[in-house]
Amino acid sequence: MTARVLIVDDMPANVKLLEARLSSEYFEVMTAEDGPSALERIEKEAPDIVLLDVMMPGMSGFEVCEKVKSNPKTPHIPIVIVTALSESKDRIQGLEAGADDFLTKPVNDKALLARVRNLTRLKMMMDAFQSRAETYEQLGLEYGIPAIAREDASKASVLLIEDNADSASHIREILQTRMDDDVAVFEDGTVAIDSALEDSYEIVILSLDLLKEDSLRLVAQLRAREELRNLPILVLVEEREEEILAKAFELGVNDYLVRPIETSELILRSRTQVRHRRYQDRLNSDYRDTLAMAITDSLSGLYNRRYLETHLPRMMQEAIHDMKDLTVIMVDIDHFKDVNDRYGHATGDDVLKEVAKRVRDNVRSFDLVTRLGGEEFVVVMPDCSMQFVRATAERVRARLSDLPIVVSGGERIPVTVSLGCAQITGPTDTAEALLKRADHAMYKAKELGRNKVWVLDDEDDESDIERFA
Ligand code: GH3
Ligand code: MG
Ligand code: MG
Repeated sequence: MTARVLIVDDMPANVKLLEARLSSEYFEVMTAEDGPSALERIEKEAPDIVLLDVMMPGMSGFEVCEKVKSNPKTPHIPIVIVTALSESKDRIQGLEAGADDFLTKPVNDKALLARVRNLTRLKMMMDAFQSRAETYEQLGLEYGIPAIAREDASKASVLLIEDNADSASHIREILQTRMDDDVAVFEDGTVAIDSALEDSYEIVILSLDLLKEDSLRLVAQLRAREELRNLPILVLVEEREEEILAKAFELGVNDYLVRPIETSELILRSRTQVRHRRYQDRLNSDYRDTLAMAITDSLSGLYNRRYLETHLPRMMQEAIHDMKDLTVIMVDIDHFKDVNDRYGHATGDDVLKEVAKRVRDNVRSFDLVTRLGGEEFVVVMPDCSMQFVRATAERVRARLSDLPIVVSGGERIPVTVSLGCAQITGPTDTAEALLKRADHAMYKAKELGRNKVWVLDDEDDESDIERFA
């Protein structure tokens, strides 16, 4: 896992030091010596991470940070503010400016690599969202990625694994009183993991010197469970535990704290992790909601035309690749205009919903059912014989004509549908052509008197298709 890191510092010696360290770990390094040139490089070259000195003549690091975060092209680029030791007001100001993480000078190697690696992971996730955002744009949707720093990080649900009672109550006390966290303390790692699988914690704080247990094994176990893989882990180490810390990072720990635990450091480190976690969750759920809205027909709950048009070509490619059949059934309600005219549009909507449900209920769960618009539906059936398709279409037809639809007003409305089926012809076939053929078949069913199924097969020659064009 590597990344392109921009180091911004007005002191050449500081730049050299960080550069050497990061280069030796195979990070690609760029540098800038003041705010304005940093802003230019960030916008032009979009680094994966920015390490930003606070004290610079002209434009301060805070100002640079604010500008990067408010530029619509760059808010997703993580920024690590590098402050003088124990300047807690700098950190607060850094957070307000939108910084994603902090390092103190003189910069410790372990801390540097820990923060950079952690943010590299975050950036990879952000890049994935950025690329989804571009897909949204293709679908004609607005989707801006919000800045991480805006995420509230109080009232976190914390899993603390620590067998030193004094240390455990000290940490719990700080997190509860200062951050209003909910802290569950466990001495036993196995019990703690069971609890983690049951409850939704937002962060694990784990002692690396448990007496009765191998803490690294616990880290490995946490990372091995898919449900827990993205749960941030913050480890507590004794000052001289360099070896074990390196191993812990290899296993996927996110950050660390050195004992004796300092209050402000505990709060800052745990908050950074909680904030990232909540941010990822939010992006995920925003993504799901937006996507669901974009591809669902709100009246029927079925997939919409946009989804069909995006997905059908892919299904066709897969069918051709696997040398399997693929069939489209076009379903159109007969004389639906009369239903609207007679019972009103709202009742018409009720009928549409029920027709959608009956179609959905009478095909296989993995068949794609979409509402093309109006009173037309399309079912895409992968990998089945024409005989099976015909039987399915017949069943859908009969389920509608055999049982009138009872609408909310209590009326029983007889409804029939006409169905046209067409199959993929070969590698040169297109979604558009396939849908058109199914449409022709459906019109043939209408022509034959409605409430019918028509299957377009080899016997239907081109002239037959032309007639319905
Ligand atoms: P045919 O048997 O030839 O298909 O006749 P039809 O009346 O079903 O076909 P036509 O295309 O003439 O009319 C479709 C009607 O569907 C017209 C339109 O008002 C109605 N419609 C389209 N969308 C909706 C909708 O969302 N809700 C309701 N209630 N009606 C709709
Ligand atoms: Mg119709
Ligand atoms: Mg129609």
